[in-house]
Amino acid sequence: MTASPSSAYPYRLRLPGPITIPERIRQATARSIVNHRGPEMRVILEEIQQWIKPLFGTTAPVLTFGSSGTGVMEASLANVLAPGEKVLALVHGQFGERYAQIARALGAEVDVIESEWGWTPDPAVIAAKLDKNDYRALVAVHNESSTGAVTDLAAIGALLRDRDTLLLVDSVSGLGGLELRQDEWGVDIIVTGSQKALMCPPGLGFASVSEKARKVIERDDRCARFYLDMRKALAVVDKHETAFTCPVSLLFGVHEALTMIHEEGLPQVFARHKRLSDAMRAGCVALGLPAFGDQATASHTVVVASVPEPLTGGAIVKHMYETYNTAIAGARNKLTGRVIRIGTMGLISEADVLTDLYFLERSLTALGHAVPTPGCGVAAAVASLS
Ligand SMILES: *Cc1c(COP(=O)(O)O)cnc(C)c1O
Repeated sequence: MTASPSSAYPYRLRLPGPITIPERIRQATARSIVNHRGPEMRVILEEIQQWIKPLFGTTAPVLTFGSSGTGVMEASLANVLAPGEKVLALVHGQFGERYAQIARALGAEVDVIESEWGWTPDPAVIAAKLDKNDYRALVAVHNESSTGAVTDLAAIGALLRDRDTLLLVDSVSGLGGLELRQDEWGVDIIVTGSQKALMCPPGLGFASVSEKARKVIERDDRCARFYLDMRKALAVVDKHETAFTCPVSLLFGVHEALTMIHEEGLPQVFARHKRLSDAMRAGCVALGLPAFGDQATASHTVVVASVPEPLTGGAIVKHMYETYNTAIAGARNKLTGRVIRIGTMGLISEADVLTDLYFLERSLTALGHAVPTPGCGVAAAVASLS
């Protein structure tokens, strides 16, 4: 292992995922492995099933896969599509682009509604597209981690309620930090991963499946599928099993994470994410880094801040890491250099936000960016918190 860049500071993982794992969860993942089809594991899977459903806002079954988030995005499409069918993709960031790419890779004919990055599409534009075409699925990203925009799923769900088109949603970086009401909003499949607001190591994917989606999944004329075949997973979900060996340690972690979330209370968890992301954003703005994108739809799980010229996001990320041992994110897409992104999901507190803003101010100053007054980022965050 390489020595930490600056031993004066502990390592701080402040990305919009993977995120710092709370100690309780980290210890849960270290428990001894049990029989993956034995009674101990069935209890864990049963309780996860029961406790994770309120995070999706559903009574539908939630399937578990050993996979990163992208794997369950692929599963959501491979199980409902037949090659040649049409998919409508809402694209206004990197993960929307990925969902569209997956659909193309599976042989779908993909129409894209492209919006400016940081903004989400007008439902009227979506409705017009739906009126002219017969889509098997509409794919959308709930919380676009590359831009910080949150999509109004209720509005889109309302458009699809009386159509055959299925609504598939990537909430990898939203679920657990942002409210979801799958059943009420009419979402058919929501996919998520373990390493974002679920506060666990990377490696687990979850997918909730509506009755409307299930009828399509059960058809034999869908894409070729084997490991990610939701028919196999649905056949054993009520017996509290997975089709193949489940990542036992990660599931211990998710079980502990769900325990913690319900101990705090879901409304309290959501309110904390809002409060801390508001404070982080206020701090960035005060430091001269304007919030990126449409602030009416700003995320609570990630703060995306614009970087003024001649500064670059990469220089800030590098300085934060090398001097303060703090890992924040830039961009690996067309926003490269123009934004920085800091996670506000998981079990963080005011102290984390204020520390980030202090280090950010010191880094900006070191890079030659004059902040209005010393401490103004921290002060703006404190004002937002009180
Ligand atoms: C992190 C993330 C993913 C999944 O990424 P993996 O690296 O495959 O886990 C997908 N969508 C969004 C919005 C994300 O933030």
